[in-house]
Amino acid sequence: MADEVERGLTRVLRQLGEANADLQKTAAEVRGMVELLVEKGVVTAAEVAAKLGQAGQPLDAAQRRRLYVINDDQRDKYGDLINADVDCASRYSLCQAACCTFQVPLSEQDLDEGASRWDLGRPFYLRKDATDRRCVYQDRATNGCGNYAARPLACRTYSCKSDSRIWRDFEGRVVNAKGIAALLAQEGHRPLDLIAPSPTLPSLVRSED
Ligand code: SF4
Ligand code: SF4
Repeated sequence: MADEVERGLTRVLRQLGEANADLQKTAAEVRGMVELLVEKGVVTAAEVAAKLGQAGQPLDAAQRRRLYVINDDQRDKYGDLINADVDCASRYSLCQAACCTFQVPLSEQDLDEGASRWDLGRPFYLRKDATDRRCVYQDRATNGCGNYAARPLACRTYSCKSDSRIWRDFEGRVVNAKGIAALLAQEGHRPLDLIAPSPTLPSLVRSED
């Protein structure tokens, strides 16, 4: 019974998350169309703002906290070829494992096995320390992962090779010092998710248009 309730709750939360992703996608598309109309001189930004009753507020002020997020990747995290090919241990002194400051959405498998604690206030993100906002599993002394064997799927698949927040030149081992400092300090907005939520609505514009 408890399992069924848990699964039902998970399903409801999933649908809420999808609806929220759809809403954000729609808002982005409407915003894009309005910007195009302004660019083409059809309307002015002031007219749009007045019409919307939002004069003085940027249209993108609606970046609201999502109710819940789940990593929809259904692959077995223990399967072959899942792990990103990054030589983390040899790079900790450079990158300071800044990726472990990211918001990490857990997969169903992560949740089912119960080996990764999630943020009770933000289902279903991997839990972060309330003080330094790093993952609770990160070893603060070595920067290594204290939950390596069971680490979430998103941690396994993420590769920082082309992540400009961390590297200016991955192969050359040149870091983005400012980017890393900002991640570690959690300055500005929160770091981007490792996995973006998936809207379910079709795009307004077809790719062949
Ligand atoms: S930033 Fe890259 S190299 Fe450093 S710990 Fe994370 S994945 Fe590994
Ligand atoms: S589980 Fe491990 S790899 Fe993933 S964010 Fe936490 S410390 Fe980093």
